[in-house]
Amino acid sequence: MGKNALRVIDALNSSLAGENIRYEVTALSAHSSVELLAEQARKYNAKFIAITNTDYVEELERLASGLGVEILCGPEGLVEIGELEEVDIVLTAVVGTAGLGAVLAAAKKGKTLAIANKEPLVAAGELLTKTVRESGGMILPVDSEHSAIFQAMQAGRADEVSRIILTASGGAFRDYTIEEIEKATVEEALSHPTWDMGPKVTIDSATMVNKALEVIEARWLFDVPVEKIEVLIHPESVVHSLVEFVDGSVIAQMGRPDMCLPIQYALTYPRRVAGIAEHLKLDELSKLTFARPDMEKFRALALGFEVAKTGGTAAVVFNAANEAAVEEFLAGRIKFVRIIELIEECLSKHSVKKSMSLEELLEADAWAREEVHKSIRAQVQKSTSG
Ligand code: MG
Repeated sequence: MGKNALRVIDALNSSLAGENIRYEVTALSAHSSVELLAEQARKYNAKFIAITNTDYVEELERLASGLGVEILCGPEGLVEIGELEEVDIVLTAVVGTAGLGAVLAAAKKGKTLAIANKEPLVAAGELLTKTVRESGGMILPVDSEHSAIFQAMQAGRADEVSRIILTASGGAFRDYTIEEIEKATVEEALSHPTWDMGPKVTIDSATMVNKALEVIEARWLFDVPVEKIEVLIHPESVVHSLVEFVDGSVIAQMGRPDMCLPIQYALTYPRRVAGIAEHLKLDELSKLTFARPDMEKFRALALGFEVAKTGGTAAVVFNAANEAAVEEFLAGRIKFVRIIELIEECLSKHSVKKSMSLEELLEADAWAREEVHKSIRAQVQKSTSG
């Protein structure tokens, strides 16, 4: 995400040079890729760089010495970046909960938040949108479906929206039967039909947890009741999502599956600028198809709708339990179908808190992760001792 954002910025700076508009990269962060971070800091003349994995601080100091850049570290380093006076737009793509504090800090300062990862709106959707409303900041979605909805929404007023339709590729198991999914291997789950993503997101796409998280995200981002959100399987991944208005008009956003477009729109909104995204060739598409997802086969999706309705700490638990379960699946310790069972078990043990602080969210997150790992450790012990 970071690399793509920098490519988009390069392209924008050359497109907008004639207008004397220039995007400056004030701060950059990474988890452990110190070499790349130092190289980018040099190329973009960044004033601040943050490394969240504190084991790498010394190495980064050595690599970035002489660059005149201030080095920050840990999640607190990200918070400092989020609060910087000279920053207008914060683009966030920090996996897990490490970036939550920084996103909330930036929201409090009234920054424009370009959000690429799901955690801020899933785990802290209610708190974050409330903070943004109070500070006069703004959230611009970078997740492709939400960017599509946001773009389609420009065609009418918020109170004229009758339905939000999220499209889903259907993931690796779209055409599998329930019985075939039972026997699915890690390799099968990792083969995604259209988007090229990391292993965690590819598994989330196979379980459709990904789409469940996007339902929760949409509920907060667009402030719509869950009843107005729908998911349709669209294997071609050309229509990135749609909005239906009260008069029956359906506005779709289409494009090639390329993250550069949503990144760019978040950076130039409300403008559109010529960029690097390859254009869609409509005459080369033979057909666009849409189908209702099988909620029995994709139980995670049904659960996502439920969690979105429940609100409170349910979503943070859903997300954290899934992350822990996917880790266990990728490590070969559990079967594919066990992922969703573990999430369900975790949610049934959790008593949902309605109003919450960041601390309470992080606590629920840690609890859910531990709960999943604990249940697998117990299972492994039982099978080795018995
Ligand atoms: Mg998405």
